[in-house]
Amino acid sequence: MTFTIAVVGRPNVGKSTLFNRLVGKKIAIVDDTPGVTRDRREAQGSIADLEFRVFDTAGLEEGEPGSLSDRMRRQTQQALNEADIALMLYDARAGVTPMDEHFAQWLRRGDKPVILVANKCEGNAIVDGIYEAYTLGLGEPIGLSAEHGEGLAELYRAIVESLKEVGIDPYPNEDDADLAQELHDVDTGPTEGDLEYEFVDREAETEEARPLRLAIVGRPNAGKSTLINEMVGEDRLITGPEAGLTRDSIAVDWEWDGLPVKLFDTAGLRRRARVTEKLEKLSVGDTLRAVQFAEVVVLLLDAEMGIEKQDLKIAERVVNEGRGLVIALNKWDAVTDRLECQRQLTDALTRSLPQLKGVKVVKFSALTGKGIQHLMPAVAEAYEVWNARVPTSAFNQWLADTLEKHPAPSVGGRRIKIRYGAQIKTRPPTFLMFCNRPDDLPDSYKRYLENELRRDFDLPGTPIRIIMKKGA
Ligand code: GDP
Ligand code: GDP
Repeated sequence: MTFTIAVVGRPNVGKSTLFNRLVGKKIAIVDDTPGVTRDRREAQGSIADLEFRVFDTAGLEEGEPGSLSDRMRRQTQQALNEADIALMLYDARAGVTPMDEHFAQWLRRGDKPVILVANKCEGNAIVDGIYEAYTLGLGEPIGLSAEHGEGLAELYRAIVESLKEVGIDPYPNEDDADLAQELHDVDTGPTEGDLEYEFVDREAETEEARPLRLAIVGRPNAGKSTLINEMVGEDRLITGPEAGLTRDSIAVDWEWDGLPVKLFDTAGLRRRARVTEKLEKLSVGDTLRAVQFAEVVVLLLDAEMGIEKQDLKIAERVVNEGRGLVIALNKWDAVTDRLECQRQLTDALTRSLPQLKGVKVVKFSALTGKGIQHLMPAVAEAYEVWNARVPTSAFNQWLADTLEKHPAPSVGGRRIKIRYGAQIKTRPPTFLMFCNRPDDLPDSYKRYLENELRRDFDLPGTPIRIIMKKGA
C-alpha cells in the first residue's frame, strides 16, 4: 500500500504548480475519474525515493472574499477524506489571508496530519514571510518554492514524520527505512518558532557524531568519480571518459580524520535508476537533489574548462538552499596558465555571487592526488562556519556598532530603526532583528549588515540569512 497526499489551500497559492512538480511532467497523467468532478487531479507523485498518490483541488474560483465557498469546501473535504496527509499551502509572499485562516481553522478540526507549506519562498524570501503563519495553529511552516523546486528536502522529512504519526510505512516495498532514518536524523535545528521561548539553544545538545553530509557536484567529466576514488581509496565508483558514467552510484560512508562523512556523488540519492532517460537531464536533477540533501557541497570545476554559467547556477542554488560551499578546481595538473585561470574564477565569482565572498577555493589534481589533502580541511571549515553560533550579547554589541557606523536610511522622511536581535538558528547562520518598519528596509542595507556580519564574525563561504521582524 502506498499513501496519499492531498494538496489543499485557497486559489492561487500554487497548488497546481506543486502538484506538477511532485508528479513530474512526464508522468503527469491526470485522472478523470468518473463521479469525481474535474476540479480534482490525481496522479502518482514522488520526492526522491518517496512515492505516493497525490491530488490537488486546483481550479476552484475564489468565492466571497474571506469565506470558503461550498464548492471549495466540498472538494477539499473529499480530498481530505481520501488522503492520509494534507499539505496546506499558503502564499508566503501575499501573507496569511482571512481565507487561509478559514482553511486552517477547519483543517485543525480534522483527524489527518496537516503539513503547513509556505509557498513562493524562493531564494532569500524563504524566511521573511513565515512568522505570521504560526497564527494558523498548524505548527512550523515549511518554506518551499513549488515553481523553483526549492525546499523539497524539508518537505520530504516532514512527510516521513507525518506518516510515522499515522503509522504508515513510507517504504512498503523495500529496505529504505534506513534512508528515512537517516533523513530523520538530519537535525534541521530549531526554527524561528523557538523565538517565542526566548532564543532557546536547542541545537548544541544534539551535536553528536552524526556524519557530515557531503555532496560532490559538478558538470559531467569534471572528475567527481576520480576524486571520490582518490579520497575514499576504494574502487567503489567506476571512472571513465564518458559523461554520466557514475549516475547509479550512491552514498559512501567514510571517515576523515576521525570525522564521519557521508559522501554523495551527484547521483547519490536516486535509488532507482531510470535507465531509459536522457543522461543530460538526469545529471541536472541529481545535482539539485544532492544539494538539497547535503550540508556541505563541493562544487568541482574542471580547471581546463574554467567556470561556466551552469557552475554558477549550481553555486547559486547551494546558497539559496542554505548549504555550505567549497569550490574545487580539479585537473590543476593540466592547466598551463595558472594565474590566468585563477583570475578568471575570482572575477566570475565576485561578479555573479558576491554573497559568497571568502568562499574557499581549493586547487588539486584528482588524477595524481596532488593537492587533494587540502580539500577536506576546507570542507570541515565550511561545515564549522555553517554551524557557527554568535552569542546574543556579542551580536547586539556588534549590531549597535554597525548601526552607528552606517545608520539605516530614512524612508519617506522617517528613520528606520533596528533595535536588537539574535542568532536564532545555525546551519546556515540565521539572524533575527527587530525593526520598526521591516518592510521599508532596503535590500541594500540588509546586504550591508550581511557583509559586516560575515567579516566581523568570520563567516566566509556560508549563506547568511537575515530576518527583520516588526517590533521596537
Ligand atoms: P493554485 O490555484 O493554488 O493551483 O495555484 P497555481 O499553481 O495555479 O499558481 C498560482 C500562481 O502562483 C501562478 O502564477 C504560479 O506561477 C505562481 N506560483 C506557484 N508557485 C510559485 C512559487 O513557488 N513562486 C512564485 N513566485 N510563484 C509561484
Ligand atoms: P565525472 O564525470 O565528474 O565523474 O568525471 P570522471 O571522474 O569520470 O573524470 C572524467 C575524466 O577526467 C576522466 O578521463 C579522468 O581521468 C579525467 N580526470 C579526472 N581528474 C583529473 C585530473 O586531476 N587531471 C586530469 N588531467 N584529468 C583528470
